[in-house]
Amino acid sequence: MRKPIIAGNWKMNKTAAEAKAFAQAVKNNLPSNDKVDSVVGSPALFLETLVAEAKGTDLQIAAQNCYWENAGAFTGETSPAALADLGVQYVIIGHSERRDYFHETDEEINKKAKAIFANGMTPILCCGESLETYEAGQTAAWIEGQITKGLADLSAEQVASMVIAYEPIWAIGTGKSADANIADEICGVVRKTVEKLYGGEVAQKVRIQYGGSVKPENIAEYMAKENVDGALVGGASLQPDSFLALLEAV
Ligand code: 13P
Repeated sequence: MRKPIIAGNWKMNKTAAEAKAFAQAVKNNLPSNDKVDSVVGSPALFLETLVAEAKGTDLQIAAQNCYWENAGAFTGETSPAALADLGVQYVIIGHSERRDYFHETDEEINKKAKAIFANGMTPILCCGESLETYEAGQTAAWIEGQITKGLADLSAEQVASMVIAYEPIWAIGTGKSADANIADEICGVVRKTVEKLYGGEVAQKVRIQYGGSVKPENIAEYMAKENVDGALVGGASLQPDSFLALLEAV
């Protein structure tokens, strides 16, 4: 049985004061980590505050990106070693916004995955297709390609422990969520790809999230599906009430 994992992705939102207030509002009202992993993905600026607030509670903290080297002359980048040292547990990598706006490649994302594991954290690896790819009926092949390249050279143990998020680009921030059956089908493609690369046991362990216009009103439809183990949520994760409502619906 895979444990559900609900992760908020705040993207580039909130001030330090707002981030702290959010953590204080939710941290003692979360379901137990025995039942569900409750994760907030914050801008790097607020991670230290959030980790401190989350200490001893069921709130878990994710970064939204990192570099693949631990230290050096990489102006403006975030060290995975420094994130791990702060107590950050997860790092979101390969989000479509990073791929589109910052031109991240599958190869770079793979290097980040390795660096995150090397520092004892868990990657949340995002994949997803454009509307053009979706309408051309090329989604499965596209996803298989992204996953195969993103996981290159990772061990079976690493892949079994990680999280993969399927986020169709056409469903992100558009209010146009993918039908739950489509989400299940494509999360199933992710699982099949993992099975092909690492075998059935690893494929049954890896947790796969759906993301794209998930909200408290529709999250249960996704969670009811065989291949969907959680959600990666943007807009509906920003307010404490809404974040808690997502978790209540799981
Ligand atoms: P929305 O939930 O705002 O559509 O964002 C999804 C997303 O990109 C999460 O990473």
